[in-house]
Amino acid sequence: MLLTGLFPTSICHHQLHRGGRSLLNRRLGDECRALRLADAAGRRWSREHYAGGYTSYGTHSRLHLVSSLFGDLERAIRPHVRHFIVSLAYDMRGRRLEMTDCWANIMGPQTVHSGHLHPLSFISGTYYVAVPPGAAPLKFEDPRLAQFMAAPPRRRNAPPELRPFFTLAPKAGDIVLFESWLRHEVPAGHAKGERISISFNYAWREI
Ligand code: FE
Repeated sequence: MLLTGLFPTSICHHQLHRGGRSLLNRRLGDECRALRLADAAGRRWSREHYAGGYTSYGTHSRLHLVSSLFGDLERAIRPHVRHFIVSLAYDMRGRRLEMTDCWANIMGPQTVHSGHLHPLSFISGTYYVAVPPGAAPLKFEDPRLAQFMAAPPRRRNAPPELRPFFTLAPKAGDIVLFESWLRHEVPAGHAKGERISISFNYAWREI
């Protein structure tokens, strides 16, 4: 029997910095907490949309353009985005990549970010600054889930590529990249400390 696997969904998980205690991570963590302290409008926005946590998504979502530290992070992430795009066989001749959004997230133990996609972008991802033990993972959903309709459930031992959900547990210092149409969520965790991450979107432009 000949089986042909088609239409794959790729997720890139890469250790950008070994361990979470790098100087960059400590400085990024400090800057995210300082931003929360200074950003009263963001704290208000987060009370409504991000219970138990803080995100700068509603108030400061282009941090790579206003902070040299976040700019350094963008320069470190960019080559990996390029590799990811090459692996996906997209033709970038005459096109360039641009980080369009970059925002900070500080999640308390019970903060959740329900299923969503990033509809106006090409590649999205997250860099993990602090991931205490028990912190929530990142959960991806098969983009065809609504089309399965009458299919029976998968076996419990189905290989990861055939399961309807895939859960990734990144460590501090890791980046995760995915195509922006891929639905994902952050469920509740049970960590004592704060989970700090920086999310971003890339678009492509004609040169
Ligand atoms: Fe997201």
